[in-house]
Amino acid sequence: MDCTLCGEPIANHSPEFHSLKLNDERTVEICDACARAFVAWQGEKLARLFPTRAMKSWQERRGRRR
Ligand SMILES: [Zn+2]
Repeated sequence: MDCTLCGEPIANHSPEFHSLKLNDERTVEICDACARAFVAWQGEKLARLFPTRAMKSWQERRGRRR
């Protein structure tokens, strides 16, 4: 079974850990290295999104009080 993202064969493939079901017709296989990269990428996005969102709601709350 090869990784859908990088094309490398997935060692010790197990559907539980490597198969991501997108919908009824489509399942992708993701190797451990790509899964780690994906999680790191999402983590960076969340870190970038959350301060902005927290700051925005803080400003909105302050604005309402005035
Ligand atoms: Zn991969």
